Amino acid sequence: MGFSLLEERIRRDGTVRGTDILKVDKFLNHQIDVTLLEEIGLEFHRRFRDVGVTKILTIEASGIAIACFAAKAFGVPMVFAKKNKTKNIAGDMYTAKVESFTHGKVYDIIVSKDFLLPEDKVLIVDDFLANGAALDGLIALVRQAGAEVVGAGIAIEKAFQPGGDRIRAAGVRVESLARVAAMDEQAGVTFY
Ligand code: 5GP
Repeated sequence: MGFSLLEERIRRDGTVRGTDILKVDKFLNHQIDVTLLEEIGLEFHRRFRDVGVTKILTIEASGIAIACFAAKAFGVPMVFAKKNKTKNIAGDMYTAKVESFTHGKVYDIIVSKDFLLPEDKVLIVDDFLANGAALDGLIALVRQAGAEVVGAGIAIEKAFQPGGDRIRAAGVRVESLARVAAMDEQAGVTFY
């Protein structure tokens, strides 16, 4: 079920660019409405409170703010995967490749082996789910650590793109607070 607080905010303050980019930088990933993000963190907690989450994992930069509020709601640490900028990847890092949805480039994401442990039960959090490349990369990091992915909490899933269905079919519990069914520059956004 959709989270109406976020859906209403997207209708009011989100803007559609072209056929597949939703801009939410008035409240989610540039200017940030911390009261809304706090509510999003609490909603993830309501949905995943019974699965023993020990860590929240996200990807820099725009996942960090949401993941902080989720971590606060669960009372666990938040770890963010960094986009690697150097050629040499040290052996003390887990690494995965991600193709950026917004830029089309492939980059490495890294997390220190100190911060993902085999006993961890990880809830992955991100702002958007589109083709699922970011989520695939984060899942790969958790599995390299021998830890468990207990689910993924996504603020906005563009459900007309294939990532969500594909990753659910692969057995990961994905909960999206706003599932966009269709969007258009003139008509705006509709939700499932
Ligand atoms: P995916 O890897 O699932 O294709 O895309 C997810 C990532 O791309 C997210 O981390 C998000 O930062 C970015 N992204 C994908 N679609 C959108 C969009 O419509 N708007 C914005 N602002 N970011 C997006």
